[in-house]
Amino acid sequence: MSGNPAVVMRLVASAYSVAEKAGAIVRKVLHSGDLGIVEKTGANDLQTLADRLAQKSICASLSRRFPKVTIIGEEDLPCEEVQEDMIENGQAEEILQKICPKEYEALKEEELVVWVDPLDGTKEYTEGLLDNVTVLIGIAYGGRAIAGVINQPFYNYQLGSGAALGRTIWGVLGLGAFGFQLQEGPADKRIVTTTRSHSNKTVTDCVNAMEPHDVIRVGGAGNKIIQLIEGKASAYVFASPGCKKWDTCGPEAILHAVGGKLTDMFGNLYHYNADVKHMNSAGVLATLRNHDYYVSRVPQSVLRALKSD
Ligand code: AMP
Ligand code: MG
Ligand code: MG
Repeated sequence: MSGNPAVVMRLVASAYSVAEKAGAIVRKVLHSGDLGIVEKTGANDLQTLADRLAQKSICASLSRRFPKVTIIGEEDLPCEEVQEDMIENGQAEEILQKICPKEYEALKEEELVVWVDPLDGTKEYTEGLLDNVTVLIGIAYGGRAIAGVINQPFYNYQLGSGAALGRTIWGVLGLGAFGFQLQEGPADKRIVTTTRSHSNKTVTDCVNAMEPHDVIRVGGAGNKIIQLIEGKASAYVFASPGCKKWDTCGPEAILHAVGGKLTDMFGNLYHYNADVKHMNSAGVLATLRNHDYYVSRVPQSVLRALKSD
């Protein structure tokens, strides 16, 4: 397949390299010691220099190689030239070598939408909870999340200098997901992962209604999907608005590629066309297995508090 890979495979291969570069930028800003924190809508909605630089690098790099793709990034940034050293031209060879699923072979650049969260878990980044941080790039076609890349810039940071720092997970629907190990826990245990910094009564009511054996409160939408695909959690439950399309597009594609499911709290799929509302107003419910069970446990009071899209 190295002759002329399909557009979508070239885009995923670029997104992989671009996410690695963004991850390096996120590490570099941390080590500089000056995070340049700005409050967006409030103290629980932050942006740092790393969010800004990573988005510039991702968007400029992808749009240079794929000018007809629609790219939507989380951060509202002025349109300006980026320095040449912010551009990543690499493409992961491992991805170019894979066979594109038949149904995506003929997709054109202009049919694809890319959702970018340059730094997911910004709050945790500012608090030093570094393994909660991810860079998320999702690719959508026909409103569906079909491919995604998650870079975890500080993966292994607690192991010290001997261990390779950072990793990149990627997946395409119909092909699978790569860059991690699934270790499924006991099927009868309900381990729920949820927000640590954006909780409220509806969120906790809904978590409790799942009758969990354990609750893992960690930051980041990308990080919580990693908990699922690695078998550390069985459900990601967030019964509140707050997550946006760039938080869920890439992670959803990877989760779906391994047979999991991400929906709103009603059990409905989100859409990722370029013109959709950014907010995932009806919450996020994601599972590796038994999705219908978790949907059935969501209390009516929680559903009344949320609006289906
Ligand atoms: P969390 O699970 O709290 O780390 O949130 C996952 C993603 O959704 C992160 O990108 C958060 O910034 C975003 N998010 C969730 N709730 C809110 C909120 N109330 N305000 C702003 N962003 C939120
Ligand atoms: Mg985010
Ligand atoms: Mg972000």
